[in-house]
Amino acid sequence: MQQSAGVSPHPRDSGTAASARPPDGDVPWDLSNAASPTAESRATAAAPLTDRLLRSWLRCRRRAWLDRHGPAEARRWSAHRALTLQDQLHSFQSLLPTRPSHGEAACRAGSEAVVGLRLRGAGPGGIRLEAHPPLLLRIDSPSRWGAHAYQPVLVRQGRHLTREHRLVLALWGRLLAAEQGAPVPQALVLAGTGSQLQQEVFKLGSGLQQQLEEVLPRLAQELEPGRQPPPLVNDRKKCTLCCWRSLCDQEASAEGHLSEVSGIGGKRRDLLVSLGVTSLEQLAAADPEVLASALEEHGEQHRDVAAELVAQALVQASGEPRRRAPGDPLPELAAAPGVLLYDIESDPDARDDFLHGLLRLERRESGWPDASGAAKAHYHPLLALQEHGEERLWQRLSGLLERYPDWPLLHYGETEAISLLRLAERQGATEAERARLRRRLIDVHQRLKRHWLLPVNSYGLKAVATWLGFRWSQRGVDGARCLLWWRQWRQDRHRAGVPPRRAAQPLERIFRYNRDDSLATWAVARWLLEAPEPAWTGLVDAPTPGASPRPSPSTTPDPSTTPDPTPRP
Ligand code: SF4
Repeated sequence: MQQSAGVSPHPRDSGTAASARPPDGDVPWDLSNAASPTAESRATAAAPLTDRLLRSWLRCRRRAWLDRHGPAEARRWSAHRALTLQDQLHSFQSLLPTRPSHGEAACRAGSEAVVGLRLRGAGPGGIRLEAHPPLLLRIDSPSRWGAHAYQPVLVRQGRHLTREHRLVLALWGRLLAAEQGAPVPQALVLAGTGSQLQQEVFKLGSGLQQQLEEVLPRLAQELEPGRQPPPLVNDRKKCTLCCWRSLCDQEASAEGHLSEVSGIGGKRRDLLVSLGVTSLEQLAAADPEVLASALEEHGEQHRDVAAELVAQALVQASGEPRRRAPGDPLPELAAAPGVLLYDIESDPDARDDFLHGLLRLERRESGWPDASGAAKAHYHPLLALQEHGEERLWQRLSGLLERYPDWPLLHYGETEAISLLRLAERQGATEAERARLRRRLIDVHQRLKRHWLLPVNSYGLKAVATWLGFRWSQRGVDGARCLLWWRQWRQDRHRAGVPPRRAAQPLERIFRYNRDDSLATWAVARWLLEAPEPAWTGLVDAPTPGASPRPSPSTTPDPSTTPDPTPRP
């Protein structure tokens, strides 16, 4: 599955391993001395503020600090950044008929488009500034280079121009104006590629420069040597795409940051902090009724989740899962002859579900296959090339589903159900056929959340299955990496000079990743099947993964007998 800027992480991609367990092989980093004024950091004190630092700071103040002072070995390669650069290149290629020229010589020569011009200058209080706009476009306006000048070009990710975009453009405009000796009243903003390329002229008014004047000294001050790193960002959803995520996850886990509690986003954390609840441990120790009353004045919805949040914090603090609702989480499997595990890979920006993967798991006389049995199950990767049309995909997909009419279709998160039912409707399936399909679809994520509280900071597939001991066969792969492979395969498969075996590799990796996601979904489903069904007395202790199921009544009061207020994914 994939995600892009502005798209909420899917339940399968979000989160990390359980907060109670540090990620395998990760050694905690100590940032306490990172900003001490060593000889090296004294050297960086004189380093300029760059457009990249400004961009980082506008996303998260801590990120800019880490960009400058953080341990380089803790920085992770980001597939999302690679995708962003790839999108930028494709937008530029759609805009320009020829390759751009390079450097200041090209500006003097009046080239239509220029790359590689590094801009330097001074900001408020003499702060040294540096920027590297990815593309400059010639305009008819006098400058020190002649009868022409340049304007910066920015490729926008997401639907709207953000404050981050605007201030980075303002910085480019300021430095470019000084470099060319002529004002830069506007910039060009691009989005999309090919026939979908959007172009928008953006005015660089004086108000933006005023904002820059206020922001740059604050950024410079926070990056001074000897300063402690700013706190973790309030809304840790922003961390999903950040290259410092491993490091910050460790810190959040170690300090019991409230964002570690599944269900707490930026706004809810603010509320809890304002009530004096500042850590996971404090939340776990809170009285649910007292907390509910305190939260009520901020809205009925906050009151309703108080007990839920305390219960979740308790489970995370104890490291033990707890049952939250009685009954069989997967009753549809009681008499099923087998299950199909279903997982879609998609390019959300192109609205393209390019792979529908199905893993066929047959029930034996001895029962459902365990992990090693599931690993031998037959996998059906149905590629959906847009040029082949949706009708062909539907024929193959519906044909496969019809071969196993009594087999439930297990998936993790709502994406698969939504996509499949929409596809069926577009392809003319009757209301009765869609109702039958709907009955077969079982969202394992939803069933898990309805019946269990787990000691994980996210109920995403990665976090839950990792906590259960499942390991993906390719390390560090996520939706963005998968999307990169997809684009690489699309680009190379017909390219002359690329050996067929090498051209096929990205697709093989995507299949492996997709199949692993299905196996991970099965690991969760199997755990649900094996978990004990206790005599219902409220929340009860559950077995730690790997141990044999053994019910044991809990003496803890049950805060979850209220209906599940947790938002569904
Ligand atoms: S991982 Fe999150 S808190 Fe850490 S630097 Fe990145 S955005 Fe900020």
